[in-house]
Amino acid sequence: MTEIIDGNAVAQSIRDDLATAIDQLAEEGVQPSLATVLMSDDPASETYVSMKQDDCAEVGIEAIDIEIDPDADASELYDAIDDLNGDENVNGILVQMPVPDHVSDREVLRAVDPVKDVDGFHPENVGRLVAGNARYKPCTPHGVQKLIEAAGVETEGADAVVVGRSDIVGKPMANLLVQKAPGGNATTTVCHSRTKDLAAKTRQADILVAAAGVPEMIDGGMIKEGATVIDVGINRVDADTEKGYELVGDVEFDSAKEKAGAITPVPGGVGPMTRAMLLYNTVKAAGLQHGVDVDLP
Ligand code: NDP
Repeated sequence: MTEIIDGNAVAQSIRDDLATAIDQLAEEGVQPSLATVLMSDDPASETYVSMKQDDCAEVGIEAIDIEIDPDADASELYDAIDDLNGDENVNGILVQMPVPDHVSDREVLRAVDPVKDVDGFHPENVGRLVAGNARYKPCTPHGVQKLIEAAGVETEGADAVVVGRSDIVGKPMANLLVQKAPGGNATTTVCHSRTKDLAAKTRQADILVAAAGVPEMIDGGMIKEGATVIDVGINRVDADTEKGYELVGDVEFDSAKEKAGAITPVPGGVGPMTRAMLLYNTVKAAGLQHGVDVDLP
């Protein structure tokens, strides 16, 4: 029987377990807080930000909502980030991407104080991750690592294949899997759009992480019997539904399920974990900034 890895359930258990750390912070008079900064009127970005704020409220993290007119000068965004960097009541800062074209996303990532960079995208935090001394693991790959662990799958010595090499998913995912650390020690291959004979690579994988953003590009024929398949992809495809679309992953679920030992669905797999790990990083940030040694799940 193929195990369907329930991301909603694992995310809920992480949120529940974060209560211990939040209590430890409260005992020291610390209220963890996350500032979300939105410089966009894209409805999807607005939805993402409001979901993150709701998540914060649910676990007892204060959410601070900063909105910048998307037509404003970039300096307005940098000034807002500077203020948040200097505000000791703010533990985590998340700038919702994408920012408008006239703002450099690279500069924005550099502007956030690395100690408050709960996305883990500041170059200092990227460097620490690569060096095996992560401060904040980026939320999506960290969530994938937790899902693999929750499924009882051993990464040590496994052949892992990551499809995708973006800075936010593929690269940090590969870095986590290859680390000499729990949840790592996998022999890790990274594939991308220039990879020759992708199927030959994916069929070697004991653990396959698909993060290409191409709807259902990985089918059962590309999967090793019994593999653990983690589908990061979230793709909108036209469908005869009320909304006119449906969400599918990078993996063709029905055929992949026939081969996999364990597999995540879309939706309900990696997505909820990304959100839970943002809360995790925010609580960790509060502990680091206030010198409270919190027990994290
Ligand atoms: P990017 O577009 O930044 O990166 C996609 C990567 O996949 C690139 O490295 C690209 O290669 C590679 N790729 C594209 N097509 C192919 C192909 N045919 N064969 C092999 N490799 C290919 O995407 P992201 O990393 O930001 O996101 C990936 C997916 O994950 C998207 O569907 C996104 O919506 C989803 N996502 C989901 C999250 C969640 O919480 N579940 C969070 C973040 C993202 P190259 O570098 O050569 O161009």
